[in-house]
Amino acid sequence: MSATECIFCKIVAGEIPAPHLASNSEAIAIADISPVAPTHYLILPRTHEANAVALHRSNPTELSALFALVDELTQREAINDYRLVFNTGAGAGQSVFHAHLHLLAGRAFTWPPG
Ligand code: AMP
Ligand code: ZN
Repeated sequence: MSATECIFCKIVAGEIPAPHLASNSEAIAIADISPVAPTHYLILPRTHEANAVALHRSNPTELSALFALVDELTQREAINDYRLVFNTGAGAGQSVFHAHLHLLAGRAFTWPPG
């Protein structure tokens, strides 16, 4: 998928409205439109890369910036127990091919994941 067709690029650009729960110069945090936990945030890099490892290769500083927002959100909301997920590849559940980190909290999580 090209960046011009990418829904998360449109959110980053403000073409699709989504309140920013937190942001820095390299990433934004939004609420997932279809939450699977009481807290379900998506941390989006501003740059379009298909997945987290591709972002690591092209821009490791921006990958790290995702975790800065996790740090900010979990501290602000006193979230101590949470799950971070990068679904990578359709077979692993990835449906939007713009790297993004799921921050899930507010309920118990099972292991192994489904
Ligand atoms: P993944 O399946 O890991 O690629 O995650 C994509 C996530 O994006 C899913 O959890 C969707 O619910 C979420 N999503 C898709 N479109 C939007 C949107 N417009 N705003 C917020 N979240 C979205
Ligand atoms: Zn994109």
